[in-house]
Amino acid sequence: MSEASFGYEPPPPSPPRDSAIALLWRDAPGGREVFWLQRGQQLAFAGGMYAFPGGKLDPADATVPVRGATGPEAALIACAARELFEEAGILAARGRISAAERARLRDALVAGTLPFARLLADHGLSLDARDFLPAGRWITPPFLPAGFDARLFLVEAPAEQEARALPGECAEGAFIRPREALARWSSGRALLHPPTHNALEALALPTLPEALDRLRRPRFVRELVAERIEFQEGIVLVPLRTPTLPPATHTNCYVAGLAETVIVDPGSDEPTELQQLVAMVRALEAEGRRPVAVLATHHHQDHVGGVRAAARALGLPVWAHALTAEKAGLDCGRLLSDGEELGLPGFPLVALHTPGHTRGHLALHHPPSGAVLAGDLVSSLSTIVIDPPEGNMADYLASLRRLLALPVATIFPAHGAPIVDGPGKLREYLQHRAAREAQILAAVRAGAESLAAVVASAYADTPPFLHPIAERSALAHLEKLAGEGSIARAGERFLAA
Ligand SMILES: [Zn+2]
Repeated sequence: MSEASFGYEPPPPSPPRDSAIALLWRDAPGGREVFWLQRGQQLAFAGGMYAFPGGKLDPADATVPVRGATGPEAALIACAARELFEEAGILAARGRISAAERARLRDALVAGTLPFARLLADHGLSLDARDFLPAGRWITPPFLPAGFDARLFLVEAPAEQEARALPGECAEGAFIRPREALARWSSGRALLHPPTHNALEALALPTLPEALDRLRRPRFVRELVAERIEFQEGIVLVPLRTPTLPPATHTNCYVAGLAETVIVDPGSDEPTELQQLVAMVRALEAEGRRPVAVLATHHHQDHVGGVRAAARALGLPVWAHALTAEKAGLDCGRLLSDGEELGLPGFPLVALHTPGHTRGHLALHHPPSGAVLAGDLVSSLSTIVIDPPEGNMADYLASLRRLLALPVATIFPAHGAPIVDGPGKLREYLQHRAAREAQILAAVRAGAESLAAVVASAYADTPPFLHPIAERSALAHLEKLAGEGSIARAGERFLAA
């Protein structure tokens, strides 16, 4: 459940935006290499993830002539060429130009003072479709907030040019052998979207024709949308459409583990959603990942909705915290308590009792990589609702602080995309709550006595239609302040202490 959304119908999702991605490769002494970069943590889409140079189609891309291509195909090639030049400093154009001039032109292009079409024309440079081999097309799955319809192009790095990542937008950019990149993915040090992962596997194949075939005919894709979403090895995300609160529309069910897996938060019992989940678990099983249990992080319907049905369909026991089992009326084969290791071979997961959103809330920590399956402790879409008496603000903040003290890297929330900078997000949450609490304390000290008066004052920045849900969180803060003796409570009235 999310605070910034109560009683609010989100606008229908906008159609995916056309975009192009350049797979820049070269033959190096140690074998084939590909240029990748880590997207800046601050970027809204795939922040902190590793990717290839690329971006949205610009209307002006259609004005760039491309020899051997016309219409939308030409515009997409121009887009790939422009993004490659901006983000990697590689100008995949025919014609001659000095390195110094190229650097100057890139700066002008990035600064927006020189359109790409004029840049090429002024220097007798031209794009040629033969330098941009079509290498697949992918559409972002609908559970992610930003949608792209991405065309990939394979581009051989010109021998005389040196690639350099654009400072600011990218944290890191370098040529890397595909096997080395995949090893970083396996250990959780480089998160990959499915198109990036497929491209690295393709480019690791011995010959270029094999690579192109794999790029154009990827595995685990239906109607251009990835079915296998494994941002980090051992954590497969199956987005299930659930009756959750907007802006979320899906609950992320995770199939976690390598030789053995647990299915975390199957939140939907809709037959189509369940079918999709069971098919994924069976496909993984056929690859040697045997499912051993269905696990619920907490008792909310968008997390346990499909627990019984999934357990029945797969013939598996249910695991949960005792308080969750009791609340949801689950017949559990195993009750998990704080600090308990799940026991999946080669993929240690530790159950952390993290109350606050609910009393029985569990998060799962993977110490080797720092990954956390966070349930509703954190969301990348909004803040988390703390709704007393089940919700408890003091417990919630203690749970956030406890996670922050652990070796945490990526947080995999139940709603929204993974958060690569987990500690940064936890600090942001703690600061947000501290600021809100200060406003609430100030409101009480200024004479606001009723819950409604406190909300009207402390949540003046929140639209009134969200005030009913803000009241729940405000009450949680007030209970915490009263518990600490910072304010006094007299029935329904709150008074300065
Ligand atoms: Zn919840």
